[in-house]
Amino acid sequence: MQRRDFFQHSAVVGSTALASGLAGCATAGGGAHASSRMPFTVPQVVLPVVGSDEVFPVRRIYCIGRNYAAHAREMGSDPTREPPFFFQKPTDAIQFVPTGTVADHPYPPLTKNYHYEAELVAVLGRGGRNIPVDKALDLVWGYTLGLDMTRRDLQRFMGDQKKPWEIGKSFDQSAPIGAVHKVAQTGHFTQGAIWLKVNGQVKQQADLKQMIWSVAEQISKLSEAFELFPGDIIYSGTPENVGPVVRGDVIEMHIDGLPNLSVRIV
Ligand code: MN
Repeated sequence: MQRRDFFQHSAVVGSTALASGLAGCATAGGGAHASSRMPFTVPQVVLPVVGSDEVFPVRRIYCIGRNYAAHAREMGSDPTREPPFFFQKPTDAIQFVPTGTVADHPYPPLTKNYHYEAELVAVLGRGGRNIPVDKALDLVWGYTLGLDMTRRDLQRFMGDQKKPWEIGKSFDQSAPIGAVHKVAQTGHFTQGAIWLKVNGQVKQQADLKQMIWSVAEQISKLSEAFELFPGDIIYSGTPENVGPVVRGDVIEMHIDGLPNLSVRIV
């Protein structure tokens, strides 16, 4: 199979060559002896890079919550008084969706209210702590678009009980995502249309400039709470009018300057 064909089918490779690029993630300093052998391999999640034979290794997936005022209101909060907050999805929640295809996306277990959230995704090529806003975009390596798929009933149920909402947000394949576009090819995304259709009908429609916290501000705020590293990616929040899908529905999402992303719920 050609390398290019392989990445049409999967965003995951179990390659030692790629794993060697993950400096600091698994070192002998953690207590393992140089002679230790792994009983099995764990794949490194990577994303194809448009116009390049490079792949982008994903370290962590951060997501900002309630970053468009109208969405914050529909979720029952006051956007004018709320500082940004973040959650994570596991890296292997990524489902790579090749451009021009409609990928099958599995309806997950345990939910009866499965929601789409269309989002711009920034991917980082540099890290750091306490990054000032005016330096934050220097960390951005590229952009793509993705869906923050959500088991809304479980998210709400857990939230109502003041328990972690992880089961609603951070489940298997909850992060469909497109290929990475280098920032040199796209520039930074501070405005432009973002929309999502279900079965051809517009559901979400907004402008990136309506974000409460810009990508630069998100990076700056995140870096106060976590040391950021190359390979970290940030889902930058969804506009209003999130809603449910059922098996058979086709989701198409768009951000000006990026190719559309489509999945079919199966
Ligand atoms: Mn979201």
